[in-house]
Amino acid sequence: MAYDFDLYVIGAGSGGVRAARFAAGFGAKVAVAESRYLGGTCVNVGCVPKKLLVYGAHFAEDFEQASGFGWSLDEAQFDWATLIANKDREINRLNGIYRNLLVNSGVTLHEGHAKIVDPHQVEINGERYSAKNILIATGGWPQIPEIPGREHAISSNQAFFLKELPKRVLVVGGGYIAVEFAGIFHGLGAETTLLYRGELFLRGFDGSVRKHLQEELTKRGMNLQFNADIERIDKQADGSLKVTLKDGRQLEADCVFYATGRRPMLDNLGLENTGVKLDKKGFVEVDELYQTAEPSILALGDVIGRVQLTPVALAEGMAVARRLFKPEQYRPVDYRMIPTAVFSLPNIGTVGLTEEQAREAGHDVQIFESRFRPMKLTLTECQERTLMKLVVDAQTDKVLGCHMVGPDAGEIVQGLAIALKAGATKRDFDETIGVHPTAAEEFVTLRTPVAG
Ligand code: FAD
Ligand code: NDP
Repeated sequence: MAYDFDLYVIGAGSGGVRAARFAAGFGAKVAVAESRYLGGTCVNVGCVPKKLLVYGAHFAEDFEQASGFGWSLDEAQFDWATLIANKDREINRLNGIYRNLLVNSGVTLHEGHAKIVDPHQVEINGERYSAKNILIATGGWPQIPEIPGREHAISSNQAFFLKELPKRVLVVGGGYIAVEFAGIFHGLGAETTLLYRGELFLRGFDGSVRKHLQEELTKRGMNLQFNADIERIDKQADGSLKVTLKDGRQLEADCVFYATGRRPMLDNLGLENTGVKLDKKGFVEVDELYQTAEPSILALGDVIGRVQLTPVALAEGMAVARRLFKPEQYRPVDYRMIPTAVFSLPNIGTVGLTEEQAREAGHDVQIFESRFRPMKLTLTECQERTLMKLVVDAQTDKVLGCHMVGPDAGEIVQGLAIALKAGATKRDFDETIGVHPTAAEEFVTLRTPVAG
């Protein structure tokens, strides 16, 4: 049977665009549907605008530290509206680049909400198109628990477009988004409280990293409330929010920002017209080839709920395009050793196993750790400390994990990830000459294990 397209991609986000462009490059006839914004979450309400706001927030400490180097500044003023307008301009520019990328690679772009009507047909803007394969790349959406007054809370989707910087912000959650946005609001001058339901935030990260960040954020004056959860939110006559915690305490805020995870975006997608199955958490179930239970339909990225990171969605998009249209070049995505950064202030960078994971996996573990005051701060009053940690297998000498909290941790860990991927041993680290004077050289000069 002749189809309108070889591949119909639903969602022009990180994974969808990558799959569509490469599939078209391999000679396939490809369409991509996008209902909101080209580039998806990462470009519009994720990685990119978030990082721009983190840069904005970072100036606060630069200004503070400048006097130690002889600079004197009048009292610094910050204008939220300027930052948001400049950020919006940059995102518009990127949207245009994504449009060109798609069109120039021969992909047909359909702007609107796509619905699957049967395993080989998609409906969009009142038109139906047939395709040999359909790729679901519809991403995720913020999830706010069902508590009384949840309509008064915002998610990351709204945070990027607030008209003004709230004076008092309550950030709920203890994952990537909560920690990053708490840093943004705090850095830009809002009185910021981070509320997390567990003992210590960033569950799943290395224990030393979590503790170190807790100490650093407390030093900076952020109000961290652990073992705390919201029961209800009430709007008061003056527009402010009264937040009642489960333990009965009450807090006041001008903005309550929930960052409590993301659900798959499957709204009105028409999955009921297909044999696609969902997993226990509601994400689209796929096999190792991104094939759903419906043979003609594939899925990737956040909607499959594996690793919700842009570079992972990109790798999955590439794998799908190759598997379908260039099978001789197909290579499975390797989910081991995925480096990641949390753009908190200070940053976290991490790759490989945490100490806890390594011990649990039965490794005989050697830990190398260093905490130091970065050289840049020695002329300033700032007491911030950097943490660097290596988790090493004592038997094989393989470095199992690298963890850092400190300036540019993400930048530093990206390079280390290549070494770990290549199977570097502690001896390889020791024999590597440092770049002096840098913070990163500490990773190749850690000599004495701190715990066996
Ligand atoms: P998305 O990028 O979400 O794209 C899905 C697209 O599908 C969207 O554009 C959506 O509008 C469209 N769509 C949905 N349904 C339909 C439909 N029925 N018809 C047509 N179109 C539809 N990752 C990192 O690696 N680093 C970071 O620093 C980082 N920061 C983040 C910060 C925030 C605040 C958030 C929310 C996420 C962040 N992420 C980060 C995660 C990253 O954004 C996602 O992992 C990535 O965007 C997933 O790509 P995707 O292609 O699966 O989906
Ligand atoms: P995460 O899954 O990282 O964190 C969710 C947090 O919310 C956890 O601390 C969780 O607690 C808490 N939580 C979940 N449900 C509730 C609830 N009902 N009440 C109170 N707290 C709750 O999700 P995020 O929303 O922060 O981010 C989504 C994903 O996006 C990330 O996992 C990451 O993959 C990606 N991302 C990546 C970034 C980066 O690379 N720098 C930046 C931002 C996002 P508990 O731990 O107890 O379960």
